Amino acid sequence: MRVLVTAGASGIGHAIAAAFSAEGAEVWICDIDQAALDTAFTDDANVTARRTDVSDVNQVAALFEEIHRGGALDVLVNNAGIGGPTGPIETMEPVDWQRTLQVNLFSDFLCCREALPGMKARGAGSIINISSTAGIMGYPLRSPYAAAKWGVVGLTKSLAMEVGPSGIRVNAICPGPILGDRMERVLAQESAARGRPTAEIKDEYTRQTSLRSWIDGSEIADMAVFLASEKARHISGQIIGVDGNTETLGM
Ligand code: NAD
Repeated sequence: MRVLVTAGASGIGHAIAAAFSAEGAEVWICDIDQAALDTAFTDDANVTARRTDVSDVNQVAALFEEIHRGGALDVLVNNAGIGGPTGPIETMEPVDWQRTLQVNLFSDFLCCREALPGMKARGAGSIINISSTAGIMGYPLRSPYAAAKWGVVGLTKSLAMEVGPSGIRVNAICPGPILGDRMERVLAQESAARGRPTAEIKDEYTRQTSLRSWIDGSEIADMAVFLASEKARHISGQIIGVDGNTETLGM
């Protein structure tokens, strides 16, 4: 099985790449963080790492050109995403809005566009887009992020219909808040924007899920491996929360 995980040098992408490697897959990861690429998977011969900004059309084309020398991908995991700015919409800079849409949504389009011809030629493939609970509900003060993640859901639903007849499945995973660096940064930004202590906001996130839970990156990886497997052969067009059942989001 040949797999590409975008933004795979750290965070959730790293967990997903490690899980596919443990299944014996040939795994490609890309990331913009060269230092993280240099230290991730150094002793894992299943994983090949490349520096690629997935929001850049030429860099994505170059990455796929190299990957396709070995044949088509079986699995594409569009994981790359940035948190984007936090605050009332009228305070946001157009450049930050655009960048949030570019990294969270446009990059998925670019990678699907490159991966699909090979998958179609083989009549098989699994695309897994990482959306968010912010892709299924409103997220005050995080409007560009929520807009991008709803866009990922729209892309998933549309593409599943387009490519289903070619034997290709497309699904989205919506993680809840994950324990780790990214959410520490989000909590700090929200604390500054709302003038409330970080610990209070963290507690609020916990209470916003029915299971009063935070999620581990490995749980997203487990779902991705399942969705790519034969066991999920009739699962497509689905938007799957791995989030402890988020009831509401943000303030
Ligand atoms: P992260 O902030 O930890 O970043 C992971 C990696 O993305 C980093 O190594 C970074 O260098 C890379 N990256 C950033 N921009 C890139 C670009 N343009 N091209 C290539 N690589 C790039 O993120 P994470 O928490 O692991 O999140 C992964 C995905 O899950 C994202 O799409 C995110 O929106 C989504 N998500 C995360 C959470 C959470 O709580 N962390 C919750 C819901 C959804």
